[in-house]
Amino acid sequence: MSVLKISDVTKVFAAGNVVAVDTFSLDVADGELVCLLGPSGSGKSTLLRMVGGFERPTGGLITIDGEDITHLPPEKRPTGMVFQSHALWTHMNVFKNLAFGLKLRRIPADEIKRRVEAVLELVGLGGYGTRHVNQLSGGQQQRVALARSLVLEPKILLLDEPFASLDQHLRERLREEVRDIQQRLKITTLFVTHGQDEALSMADRIVVMRDGKTEQVDRPDIIYREPQTPFVAGFIGTMN
Ligand code: ADP
Ligand code: MG
Repeated sequence: MSVLKISDVTKVFAAGNVVAVDTFSLDVADGELVCLLGPSGSGKSTLLRMVGGFERPTGGLITIDGEDITHLPPEKRPTGMVFQSHALWTHMNVFKNLAFGLKLRRIPADEIKRRVEAVLELVGLGGYGTRHVNQLSGGQQQRVALARSLVLEPKILLLDEPFASLDQHLRERLREEVRDIQQRLKITTLFVTHGQDEALSMADRIVVMRDGKTEQVDRPDIIYREPQTPFVAGFIGTMN
């Protein structure tokens, strides 16, 4: 059963006359983790931002559970997005960063406390509620950003290169943690990356993008065995 349906979505940036996303279509199943993989400038972020409501499609349709969300503002969508630069509120403590969105939704204080504490446990930051964000390490800050999205209990999780600023070792650890959390919550996820190793190790399915279009869509093992794009084939060549 597909939860998220992206149908013939296009984004033209008038400034510069760039077709960032070109009649792109994808169905994502309930609980599936799909990696959008491609080189810089291939339209991954623009596509994700359109699903999250941060960019307006020029054409096409996006539905979640059959409901047309193409032109809804972000806060009206059942999506949660983690940006490459996490944009946490550094002058607030961890608890307040997570509680903010829940307060806007007028959720009672005792429920906010319960939900924030549960999500902090989930991301391995139990007991960190009173810590200030700027006292945390880069990896811990990314965990807070993930928790801030998860606490809203989104139906679709959108992650845009969330580990790009972290070192290799931490990236690999967080990749496993995120995959583990995603599977425990069975949360439908779109994960944007230009890292072939990240996509091959995390995804249920990989969409390889170039110039705003799909070059190949397959399970990671099939993409690994039969890469049909220079971007992936070249990478695998360097591994073997
Ligand atoms: P990726 O995330 O795969 O690196 P992007 O979606 O950021 O790619 O960009 C796709 C293309 O759209 C690029 O050519 C980029 O320069 C262009 N683009 C992205 N955002 C804007 C914008 N706000 N205005 C004009 N062009 C943009
Ligand atoms: Mg990007």
